[in-house]
Amino acid sequence: MSYGGARAFTSAFRHLGVDAYVSPDGDERTYELAGKHTSGDECLPERVTIGNFLKVTEFPGFVPEKTAFFMPTAGGPCRFGQYSSFLKHVLGDLGYEDIMVVAPSSADGYEGLGDMAGSMLRLGWWGLIGTDVLRKMLHIYRPHETVPGAADAAHEQALEIFCGAMEDKRYPVGRKKLHELAGALEECRDLFRQVPVDFSRETMLVGVVGEIFCRLSTFSNEDLIRKLEAFGAQAWLSDITEWVWYTNEEQDKNLKMRGKGLSMEMLGVKLKKHVQHGHEQVLLAPLKGEFVGMEEPHSVREVLDLAYPYLPYHGALGEMVLSVGKSIYMYNKGADGIIDISPFTCMNGIVTESIYPKVSKDHEGLPMRTFYFDGTQIDLDNDLGIFMELVRNYHRKKTKRRIRRGTA
Ligand code: SF4
Repeated sequence: MSYGGARAFTSAFRHLGVDAYVSPDGDERTYELAGKHTSGDECLPERVTIGNFLKVTEFPGFVPEKTAFFMPTAGGPCRFGQYSSFLKHVLGDLGYEDIMVVAPSSADGYEGLGDMAGSMLRLGWWGLIGTDVLRKMLHIYRPHETVPGAADAAHEQALEIFCGAMEDKRYPVGRKKLHELAGALEECRDLFRQVPVDFSRETMLVGVVGEIFCRLSTFSNEDLIRKLEAFGAQAWLSDITEWVWYTNEEQDKNLKMRGKGLSMEMLGVKLKKHVQHGHEQVLLAPLKGEFVGMEEPHSVREVLDLAYPYLPYHGALGEMVLSVGKSIYMYNKGADGIIDISPFTCMNGIVTESIYPKVSKDHEGLPMRTFYFDGTQIDLDNDLGIFMELVRNYHRKKTKRRIRRGTA
């Protein structure tokens, strides 16, 4: 979960009457605590998640029997599916059997959320849409700001406004609440528009794809995007909603493969997509025109089709397919380079790294580089500097025109 996404989920819980808080930020203590309970085989997101939850147990006045941790789960080969059971195991070892681990899953219809599942799913979706676009605004404005820190301040204030509207109990989860959130996003847009900027300053557009946790957690990826901006780049980070659209597409595909193309289940999937799409339209209406040249694909199918020659989606699954397809989508939009952020040992990064040379060769030599993270120091500035040299060289000879804000 991104910082903004976690804040939105917290506000959604609060709207529904749960006294929720964002788990603490990562720091050295995160790794210290995680290191005591992990073997080294775990991926970085698992260590960061465990470490940050364990930090909560060190809070003054911490009461285990009044605490629950929210750690959704999923099936499949990814280690994410083991996080919640591993967390329970570690808490048990520490004598905290009383702490509840809430681990809803799409496989059980999110029954772990009880009566609030329906409202929480809707609020969660709206929260992801809102915080995804606020982060995207930050990444557009920050490289062009003329007053250092102004874009970060606007982003922080925008999160306050949006999450405040999420939490607000004036309207129950329904049409009026949705429009209240759209109004909050309009206010956030105006806040960003007040950031002093110089959009005539040319930046290199770098697409950032990769493993969802690591690419979104600035702590885990050592704030790569901020460092990239210092080299004159503007980042286009793949968002979280992409993953929701992808899981919908997977449900659709799996039902067809099981001969249930015409079934009540399929009707449910289509209906869900239709409703989610409609809500997205309402929320994003005030931001029309903000993302010139960086428009997201009309459907995730477009991304999957672009990845198809390299990773056919009925055989390959998950983020690796999205990373390859989105890289090509960004190339078509005039990106000057692609960075893939991956936790060390994660198979997504291993697979994509082996495919990128072919993708690059087929796309005018687009610079594509995987950066691995495992929680130990790397000379990121040096590596980014070298990568940006390739990006500038590519920029001089590329044929794909980028439509930039103010030049459309
Ligand atoms: S995708 Fe990779 S890094 Fe992410 S949770 Fe799964 S195994 Fe870990």
